[in-house]
Amino acid sequence: MDEARYRTLLTSLETCLREAQEIRALLLVEVADMVGLQARLGYAASVDLMARLAGSFSTAVHGRGVVHKLGDGSFCVPVGGLRNPGHAMLAAQKLVREAEQTMNDMELALSPQMHVGIALYPEHASAADELLRKAQLTAVAARRRGVRALQFDESCAEQVTKPWALREAFASALQSGGLQLYYQPKVAIADGRPVGAEALMRWIQEGRTVATPDVFIPMAEESGLIHNTTWYALSVALREAAEWPRRDELGVAVNVTPGMLHHREFPDMVRSAVATWGVHEGGLTLEITEGAIIADFAQATARLRMLRDLGVRISIDDFGTGYSSLSYFKKIPAHELKIDKSFVFGMRQDAADRRLVETIVTLARQFGLSVVAEGVEDAETLQALAQIGCDYAQGYHFAPALDQQRFCEWVSQR
Ligand code: C2E
Ligand code: CA
Ligand code: CA
Repeated sequence: MDEARYRTLLTSLETCLREAQEIRALLLVEVADMVGLQARLGYAASVDLMARLAGSFSTAVHGRGVVHKLGDGSFCVPVGGLRNPGHAMLAAQKLVREAEQTMNDMELALSPQMHVGIALYPEHASAADELLRKAQLTAVAARRRGVRALQFDESCAEQVTKPWALREAFASALQSGGLQLYYQPKVAIADGRPVGAEALMRWIQEGRTVATPDVFIPMAEESGLIHNTTWYALSVALREAAEWPRRDELGVAVNVTPGMLHHREFPDMVRSAVATWGVHEGGLTLEITEGAIIADFAQATARLRMLRDLGVRISIDDFGTGYSSLSYFKKIPAHELKIDKSFVFGMRQDAADRRLVETIVTLARQFGLSVVAEGVEDAETLQALAQIGCDYAQGYHFAPALDQQRFCEWVSQR
């Protein structure tokens, strides 16, 4: 909709609402997944469907409101003459019921979902553009909560705008160097010697954690920021690892998300990071989850081979959680398996977990892979791992992830 038509619409909404009696509301209907709908039905049929839906909305609010088309799959309906605010909800439900009836009559194989956001005039806003915005974000909140209709309150605004605010803050932290890498030591079980560290990203501002990586890494992946995030992790990790004491004996491991593994530019990114900071043999490990590999096995193994040929070590992270079959096992071009902490946690009490870890270690041996146990929290678990013949361990028993300075001190003290 162009600017001029939008202005006309706002004026008409405002007039409509001002002149109506009793309780007045703006109902905003969003038809879900319009792109998918057009792809399924074809353009002409979906235009026809939208016209019929508009007709059914008119029937539903008969005499109480007028239907305006806002965009593809989006309609707004100002209604008046409602006796109490609860009646706005009834009107919204009627819109959906009437639309569903229309689609039933058309015998559509798969009817699209729709959600209605309700904003009351003038309680929620007296200006039409603000009222419309509130009804829109309420429709989005309705979809997220899986309900057909929802009336605006502050929780809707928060639910919809907060993730965006967090995304923006993350993007700006990424640009201004507001993200840090912490390093969690990895030690050889046989003699307790440090062999390197896993780089774990932290987002700390004024001594407070803004969000944990479980939140901001998936967010970066969803919002197209994972490329820059990974470049940041790779370059900071290599730059800082070059300053570690006994640096030639230590390697640094960087986590790679599934999306990044398959990213077109990833091999070039790794090549240029390695060329810029110079990495000794075994100096850089990429941790890739087992789940990411088996999701697209052929493409993932081709990628891993490329990365291996750049002189990078490959570690299969969270091993044991991805249900990969034994036939995959022999084909994965990796150097290391990292047993998921959920199995390691269970080793002390659960004989089955212990046997499982033992089996993974035996299997890895036969394929020439080294094994790291993550999440080692106590001496008993460490001892059990030593008996099994596991190579390396990482976990709170040794140290949590430490900032650069503390990690260097930790290495020096060993
Ligand atoms: P992960 O790769 O499985 O990392 C191990 C997680 O376990 C880390 O959580 C670590 O702090 C935690 N941990 C280590 N030792 C212990 C222990 O003994 N006990 C317990 N209970 N936990 C332990 P963190 O740092 O919160 O990271 C969570 C996940 O976020 C990581 O899981 C990784 O998948 C992702 N991540 C972190 N930093 C990065 C990054 O720079 N890039 C990418 N792509 N992902 C990252
Ligand atoms: Ca990891
Ligand atoms: Ca892990």
